[in-house]
Amino acid sequence: MNGLRNSIKGRLFIWIFSVTALFLVAAGFAIYQEAKAIVCGTIDMTLHSKAQVITGLLHAENGAIELELQEIVSGDYSIPRSGHYFKVIMDGTLLAASPSLVDSSFDLTGGAAGEHVSKTAETVFTSIGPGDEPVRVLKYDIRAYERTFGIFVAESLDDSLDMMRKFRRFLLIVIPSGILIVSFMALWIVRRSLEPIALFAGRIGAITHKTLDERLDSGTETAELAGLADSFNDLLDRLQKVFESEKRLIADASHELKTPVAVIKLHCDVLLLQERTPEEYVNALREIRSVTVGIDTLVKDLLLLSRLDSGVLSSSEFEAVSLNGCIRKSAAMVQPLAEQRSIRLNLAFGDDISINGNAENLVEVFLNILENGIKYNKDHGEVDVSTSLNGTDAVIVISDTGPGIAGRDQERIFDRFYRADSSRNTDGTGLGLSIARTIIDAHGGSITLFSEPGRGSSFTITLRSL
Ligand code: ADP
Repeated sequence: MNGLRNSIKGRLFIWIFSVTALFLVAAGFAIYQEAKAIVCGTIDMTLHSKAQVITGLLHAENGAIELELQEIVSGDYSIPRSGHYFKVIMDGTLLAASPSLVDSSFDLTGGAAGEHVSKTAETVFTSIGPGDEPVRVLKYDIRAYERTFGIFVAESLDDSLDMMRKFRRFLLIVIPSGILIVSFMALWIVRRSLEPIALFAGRIGAITHKTLDERLDSGTETAELAGLADSFNDLLDRLQKVFESEKRLIADASHELKTPVAVIKLHCDVLLLQERTPEEYVNALREIRSVTVGIDTLVKDLLLLSRLDSGVLSSSEFEAVSLNGCIRKSAAMVQPLAEQRSIRLNLAFGDDISINGNAENLVEVFLNILENGIKYNKDHGEVDVSTSLNGTDAVIVISDTGPGIAGRDQERIFDRFYRADSSRNTDGTGLGLSIARTIIDAHGGSITLFSEPGRGSSFTITLRSL
């Protein structure tokens, strides 16, 4: 039963079964009651007509009251216990009775049940007839010829009760059969209607990580499932994107790590070929250390990227951040590098702007761009930073006097691991700008580049202010 309730099929079946059963039982009961009322009504009407006929036959002759019996004591009234009876009481004494009563003293009022009083002087009730059969009796009280008459007319209920019994038996067979038939039909309809869901589930089940590019055809699905198919396809699009970017990240990461690891191994192999002087060992260790510094930066960048990809930056955890404060912090971090190369950092701040974001990550963005502006700059060059408010947008422009970026590289520098050929001799992982863009995207902002080769680069970052 619990299993039935837990499935749509089961629930639909229980509902259809309960409603149909309730309806058929109620309808059967109402039909039976109505039929019973019609049968009783018909008998009562017949009895009423007969009482009227008998009343019409009463007349006074020479001061004596008579009933013209010969008019009615033929047929059913003349056959003993025929089921059709009458009796006329005048002033408390029997005036006439139908021969069918056999014993005229038979009390038609005995064992009365379910008495019913009409608006007229008629009383209708059920009693036991001379043949021990249930009879319907109508008693009509009138005053005529200055006397009081009680006219009793009765009719056996045997045939009617028999008919009702047959009708009840018929209903008791037809209603449960109807419930059974409707239940089977409901089961069949429910099964047929839910078949598309099972097929749909089958198609979804067939999609694995190897067939992530497969899509459900919403055009061939039923109207109810077409929307679900579209949503599922959207989900697959998003999953495929993440899955592929993860795959690419792993492939790129292993590719990028291969070279420095090979370099370390080579240094070790060369060192081990023969006995070395302490000076040679120290030099080799220095080389190895500088390579591991690169690996360390790469691993840190990769970790940050994978954390960003997994959605660690959620706007629900953002808070009000001072834009000038973030830039100042980044500038302070790159200051020693700038001084090494005699590069001037010019910060031109407008009024401080509040950003809804993550301070640590925003510092990372400015740090990466400032570091590039210094790293790729010429000695004695300059890096300018300015902030301004454009409507509700905070606009940050970071320009440098470096070599600029060639047109073909401009589109790709935000790609993971992309490094322009001219930068290969400079330390870097090719991840700084893609990390910056991922963080800016998560803040609902944008980053654009304007660069003229030979005349420096200018990055414009737009972030929504609070
Ligand atoms: P990385 O600096 O570690 O190589 P980035 O993602 O920060 O990685 O930059 C990608 C590439 O874009 C760099 O390798 C470089 O070729 C180019 N680039 C970025 N910033 C500048 C800049 N200010 N001037 C010239 N080239 C730049």
